[in-house]
Amino acid sequence: MADAVTLGVLERWVRDSAARLDAEAERLTALDSAIGDADHGTNMHRGFTAIVGKLDAAPPQTLAEFFKTVGMTLVSKVGGASGSLYGTLFLDMGKNAPEGTSMSAAEWSRVLAAGVAGVVGRGHAEPGDKTMIDAFTPAVAALDDAVAHGASLADAAAAAATAAEQGSAATEPLVARKGRASYLGERSAGHLDPGSVSTALLLRAFADAVAEERG
Ligand code: ADP
Ligand code: MG
Repeated sequence: MADAVTLGVLERWVRDSAARLDAEAERLTALDSAIGDADHGTNMHRGFTAIVGKLDAAPPQTLAEFFKTVGMTLVSKVGGASGSLYGTLFLDMGKNAPEGTSMSAAEWSRVLAAGVAGVVGRGHAEPGDKTMIDAFTPAVAALDDAVAHGASLADAAAAAATAAEQGSAATEPLVARKGRASYLGERSAGHLDPGSVSTALLLRAFADAVAEERG
């Protein structure tokens, strides 16, 4: 189990995320076919596959470099709203990452919060609008709370993942107020928001990467 967010943890995170997105692409796309344009799984899978290629070709040497590589790849390879939103998440995490190759749980909490603030700044979604923000906002709060109470990185990351999963599940009855799904109005109710599901997948993959990585 890792007690700091090292480059090793981060690399494992995005590689495992790519594998999970490979397995889940169809399900994510099916969710997006109900209230969007049936491309969310394909978009995310394409983006994370490209990230793995970038990491293989030129392994990042610092946290800032890692986040920048991931963010730029998502912006350039993932079409749609989610490409620019997840791209912004990682680019803004990079701008707020400490120097060097490792960060504490408290630093990770601040970095993730800064990335999510970037997503809100770009997409202007509020909690309850039926977007990825419905998963990110409770995750950031749970992470902050766990860190404030002295939890280990592993426990804090697991709490954030669980909060994201609950936030995503809670999008089902909501009427979408942002993104493509909002065009459906009331008909968007009764379906999970695909972006919230991918956010929960990413944060669970992060928690598992922390649990599995040594050092
Ligand atoms: P597109 O909607 O352009 O086809 P995707 O299907 O890849 O892009 O991603 C859709 C997801 O993006 C939605 O499920 C939602 O979670 C997220 N999303 C869309 N618009 C916004 C927004 N303004 N703020 C936050 N998230 C958003
Ligand atoms: Mg879509």
